[in-house]
Amino acid sequence: MELAVPNLIHLAIPAFVLLLVVEAIVSAVGQREWFEVKDTFASLAMGIGNVLTNLFAKGVVLAAFWLVYKHTGFFKAFLGPESWWVWIVLFFAEDLSYYWFHRISHGSRFFWASHVIHHSSKKYNLATALRQTWTGNITGTFVFWLWLPLLGFHPIMIVTMQSISLLYQFWIHTESIKKLPRPIEWVFNTPSHHRVHHASDIKYLDKNHAGILIIWDKLFGTFQPEEEHPTYGLVTNIDTYNPFRIAFHEWYGLWQDFRRPLPFKHWLAYVFGPPGWSHDGSRKTTRQLRADLLSRSVGELVEEENWGNAEAEIGALKA
Ligand SMILES: [Zn+2]
Ligand SMILES: [Zn+2]
Repeated sequence: MELAVPNLIHLAIPAFVLLLVVEAIVSAVGQREWFEVKDTFASLAMGIGNVLTNLFAKGVVLAAFWLVYKHTGFFKAFLGPESWWVWIVLFFAEDLSYYWFHRISHGSRFFWASHVIHHSSKKYNLATALRQTWTGNITGTFVFWLWLPLLGFHPIMIVTMQSISLLYQFWIHTESIKKLPRPIEWVFNTPSHHRVHHASDIKYLDKNHAGILIIWDKLFGTFQPEEEHPTYGLVTNIDTYNPFRIAFHEWYGLWQDFRRPLPFKHWLAYVFGPPGWSHDGSRKTTRQLRADLLSRSVGELVEEENWGNAEAEIGALKA
């Protein structure tokens, strides 16, 4: 069966813009400070750049999926698009792939260099959702989905499901929705869960990597509910509205470290290790930041001889 699916993201652009305008009006009327003009235009520029680069990069991804599908595609005889249950299975399989893509994008600098773009705003609004990478697809982030054509899911079905996931993730980038009814918060990725993901507070770092279903974070131990109001952005913010600097700043940083005359294991750690890794301790990873906070809290509380509080605080940090 030949599949031809319209580009869902392109079709959704008018709705994106409309909702964005509504949110901006609500923010202005309520004096909420959800938006900042330059930041919003930078986010929009990143979104446009993403659409443009994807005109080419989506072809690369589809070609990779096709190659694998054609030469392996073990169960393709059973996984045709005409069976409804195949779409259900693919929904879960795609969402699981997204979770691991996203988690590793936060855990390995090579992938972080593309993903950091999405986290580079200090604001959290529907425009932030459009602040997307220019380099992800061409630097191979699609490898996290390659097991799907390998099993025999049709490449067009996979990219369609990826688009549905991206569309879903648009509306959760807002401060206008606080918490949703508990059953929804329990199963789905929501504005509340995703606000945590965009926070630079140490407690919130590298949590809630979900695409559509938050269940993966609960299953794999990366879930963190929203408690204190998040501080949005990066641990070290880049403070620029220049779209090209936003798109390439981490690649440039990676190149600078790559060029240094260092032992091979350091070189490997700079490229593929966690973001913030450094051989001399000049920068810090999420783990190191957490350890610092933990030891500092213990030290401070011990000084105050406030043991009851110390236990509670350490418990909260470990959780
Ligand atoms: Zn992320
Ligand atoms: Zn996001």
